[in-house]
Amino acid sequence: MNKFSFYDATSIEEALEKVNSTVSSTIQPGASEQASVLKAGGIDLLDLIKEGLSKPEKIVSIRNIPGMDEVSYDEKKGLSLGANVTLDKIATNARIKEDYLALHQAAEKAATPQIRKMATLGGNLAQRTRCWYFRSMYHDCFRKGSSVCYAQPGENQYHAIVMNEDCASVHSSSLSTALMAFDAAIEITGQGGKVKVISIHDFFVLPSVDRTRESILEANEIITAVIIPSAKGETKSHYIKMGERESNDWPIADVAVVAELNEDKCKKANIVLGAAAPVPFLSEPAMKVVKGKIINEESATAAGKAAMADATPLSQNAYKIPIFETIIKRALLALV
Ligand SMILES: Cc1cc2nc3c(=O)[nH]c(=O)nc-3n(C[C@H](O)[C@H](O)[C@H](O)COP(=O)(O)OP(=O)(O)OC[C@H]3O[C@@H](n4cnc5c(N)ncnc54)[C@H](O)[C@@H]3O)c2cc1C
Repeated sequence: MNKFSFYDATSIEEALEKVNSTVSSTIQPGASEQASVLKAGGIDLLDLIKEGLSKPEKIVSIRNIPGMDEVSYDEKKGLSLGANVTLDKIATNARIKEDYLALHQAAEKAATPQIRKMATLGGNLAQRTRCWYFRSMYHDCFRKGSSVCYAQPGENQYHAIVMNEDCASVHSSSLSTALMAFDAAIEITGQGGKVKVISIHDFFVLPSVDRTRESILEANEIITAVIIPSAKGETKSHYIKMGERESNDWPIADVAVVAELNEDKCKKANIVLGAAAPVPFLSEPAMKVVKGKIINEESATAAGKAAMADATPLSQNAYKIPIFETIIKRALLALV
């Protein structure tokens, strides 16, 4: 680990000023060339530094900026979560459990109680993939600029089963699985305090589009909040995580379903798969199957099958297909 200086910012403006003074706007968060990096809970950042993937000269902590850890609700705007809200706060908030169950479940099932107390929502969305070849300093993989994805011919049991042709890593944020199902928006503050709000559907970047980044976020931008629109009519949601262990690990497969219902009939549903692709994966084939249908054993099973129809598993991860089929079915049936 190289030596670095540490700055504890007291406002978003100050954090941006400190980061801007040393960072190039075109370098992604978590990249090794960055002279300064933002730190929230520090869970992923510390790992990136220890793994030699990030070598910052300066760390700018945004952890103690007042107001960045607030949860608020407005009938028109919906639920607003400051970027420093911890996963624990999301998991224990009564309103989130009542109105945004899938988000509550995703937060409650993530990591461990100790990590949830430290890890923030902004850091969760900006964390880098846990692909072991990306994390290894001995592998100059596709994401680091070479033409090789070592997972494709190698150890790929936890890797992507869709959109895996260039890079088979999976996105590590299980909160984003739920947030995408809720059509959340991400508020980003950049240079000069300029605020932009973008849909989560436009936030993540496929390696085929830009291998060096996992989101559109620049190193001199701060996620300041995440906004989830107010629920329309009878909206229900459910999230399921399957892992090798009950705790202390990322999912090997997870799913979030948010559906607008009329009794058991589905007017519209978002079905999002995590740990399936390099980005959270909105399964349009599965959504098409349930749209306008009564949700029951038959339609829920068909949705699971449709989601996996075009899967392209690698040598060691075809086992994920029946898992996804099953959890999609279970999540849909849980709504009714
Ligand atoms: C054992 C273990 C199990 C885990 N299991 C899960 C799991 O099941 N599901 C899951 O989703 N995650 C899991 N995680 C990951 C964990 O949730 C993330 O590492 C954590 O959420 C990152 O948040 P942080 O606040 O610590 O981010 P930091 O480590 O502080 O930051 C991470 C990255 O985001 C950038 N960043 C942080 N905040 C902002 C911001 N507001 N704006 C812009 N950039 C920012 C930083 O510069 C850095 O590059 C696990 C981690 C461990 C160690």
